[in-house]
Parts: sequence; C-alpha cells; structure tokens
Amino acid sequence: MDDFFIAEDAERVVVPEFTTADTDLETSLRPHTLDEYVGQDKVKKNLAVYIAAAKNRREALDHVLLYGPPGLGKTTLAGIVANEMGVQIRVTSGPAIEKPGDLAALLTSLNDGDVLFIDEIHRLSRAIEEVLYPAMEDFALDIIIGKGPSARSIRLDLKHFTLIGATTRWGALSAPLRDRFGMILRLELYSPDDLARIIKRSAGILDIEIEDDAALEIASRSRGTPRIANRLLKRARDFAEVLGNGKITVESAQNALNKMEIDELGLDLVDRNLMRAMIENYNGGPVGLDTIAAMIGEEAITIEDVYEPYLMQLGFLARTPRGRKVTPAAYRHLGIAYESVDDVQDSFESY
Ligand code: ADP
Repeated sequence: MDDFFIAEDAERVVVPEFTTADTDLETSLRPHTLDEYVGQDKVKKNLAVYIAAAKNRREALDHVLLYGPPGLGKTTLAGIVANEMGVQIRVTSGPAIEKPGDLAALLTSLNDGDVLFIDEIHRLSRAIEEVLYPAMEDFALDIIIGKGPSARSIRLDLKHFTLIGATTRWGALSAPLRDRFGMILRLELYSPDDLARIIKRSAGILDIEIEDDAALEIASRSRGTPRIANRLLKRARDFAEVLGNGKITVESAQNALNKMEIDELGLDLVDRNLMRAMIENYNGGPVGLDTIAAMIGEEAITIEDVYEPYLMQLGFLARTPRGRKVTPAAYRHLGIAYESVDDVQDSFESY
C-alpha cells in the first residue's frame, strides 16, 4: 500500500505552478462567470463595474494587468472577462512570442472587443514590447518594410482589442508597459474559508463526496492557492477510494495529507528543509537569496515567486535589507528552540 503512495509522492505536490498533470483537472474546474469565481472580492467588484461600463458604451474593455503568485486564478479570470464581455479570447505567453512577427500575427487575428491574454508578460523581449506599445495605445501596428536608407514604416490599423497581461513578478515588468494598462489588479492568497468553498465546488463537479470539515482541512493546507487545493482534493479522493468507501472524511483527508508529508499549515519537506538549513547554517539569517538558492539547489527566482510568498504570509520568513530571516514563529513550528542574536549578545555582555 505504501509503495503506491510513495510513487505518487515523487514530485512535489504543493508547488503552485501549473504541471501537465493538472491539464484535465483545470479544464473541467475553471469557473466561467464572475459569480462562480470564489473570493478576490475587491478584484471582482472592480471588474464587474468596468465590464458593465464597457458593455454599456459598446466599447472594448480597457487593458488589464493581473498580478500575483501562480495558481491564484489569473488565467481563469481572463477567460471570465472574455465570457462576460461576450468576445473571443486568444491565449499565449511571454516566452511563446519569439519574434515581432508572432505578435503581429496574433494582433491582426483579433476582432473588435476580443481579449488577448499574455501570461508571464514580464518575459516579453524588448523588441516585442516595442510592437505592443502602439498596439495598446493607438490600436496600430508599425511595420518596417525594406532595409537601410530605403526602409520605410507603414502603419496598419488594428481592431479595438483588450490586452490582459498576467505576471507573477511585478518588479520585472518595464515601467512603460505597466503604464499602458488601464486597470491593474492584484490577486491575494485565498483564505481557508474561500478555499474550502472552491474545494466543495470542485468536489461537486468531479462527483466526489466530501465532509465540510474535510474540505476545510484540505483548504488550510493548500497555501492559499486554488490550484493546490484542487490537486490535494484529487489526491485525497484517491486515498479515500483505496482506503475507504470513497467519501472524504476529516480522518481520511488528514491521513492523505500526512502521508504526503504536508503539515497542518500546508508546508512540505522542501519548505521545512529550507528553513532548517537557514537555522542550522546561518543561525536563522539574515541570508541572501542566492545563498538560500544554492543551499537547497533551487533558482533564486523560484524561491522568490513560489516558496516565499506563503512563508512570508505565515510570518515564518521576513525580508530584511541584509537578506531573509527565519522568524521565532517558524522556530516554534519546527520545534527548534529559538535563541536570538540579541539574547546571545546579552548573555555575552553580562558575562
Ligand atoms: P494562474 O493563471 O494564476 O496561475 P489559474 O487561473 O490557472 O491560475 O487557476 C488555477 C486553477 O485554480 C484553475 O483551473 C481553477 O480551477 C482554480 N481557480 C483559480 N481561482 C479560482 C477561483 N477564484 N474560484 C474557483 N476556482 C479557481
């Protein structure tokens, strides 16, 4: 029995980024309307007003920038906007647009009001951004024909489309690009109550029986992230089917999560090892991001985008000018005695 779960556990379950294993799950679980979209009330309220106003004026919606950690529902929201506006959506991502011609082909395929969704928009190259500016501002495409002194530029008119950009890295976005969005919306990590609602909604769609308390149990271990909540729900169902009658109870949920080594706050081995390594090697910090990255064999960007937001929200990691620090709350959670540098200094002085 254990072998079955060990094989399943080979990859990290609580990463918020999309993995190929999520494909079918996400397609079936994506909400299609603002009403179905759980939580993020501020963002929803703003969008609802802008959508109603744009529809009233029969105009395209202003360009929208969505930012926040992975798995919080940015792609979902772009689809909802298109659906609520009654227009088509084209989905692409920053790294997928390699040449200015790729973007030009996308832009000229859009009709009035259509949505172009560019995920990871901070990864667009400078040359592509240059094409995007007049497209966003004047709905025009400047094309250079010929080379050298005889080169000339012609302007092509585009339809009035809506660009929805998504990014996990606010700081990596160039200022001129940022300034061209009419609406900038920041998604927050979800509360356990909201995640429990998402889990119950997903369970309904997937025909999974789940107790309310079990939904809350999974929710509180999902790191504020719907993508992780849905993934854990699926794992908990596998457990409940193999070990019981298929209904997810608090016990079976706890059992499943404990077997995956996801603790009651949603931290897994990688999180705990990261904090332990900082404590053991650097007395809890401050430690520079690159040093942490080298210590656990991850890229600094991954740590910043994926690990840190949740650890910081829990108050387990703090950012200081000299690097990251593990907080006393994290020591308590890990069951390690906390000895602050100040304490050491005090005892040294009194000695
Ligand atoms: P992002 O683009 O921010 O990485 P996605 O939009 O792909 O995130 O969302 C990941 C999954 O989480 C979606 O398939 C969807 O099922 C679920 N999800 C995200 N936000 C919500 C929400 N507010 N309500 C219900 N489900 C959500």
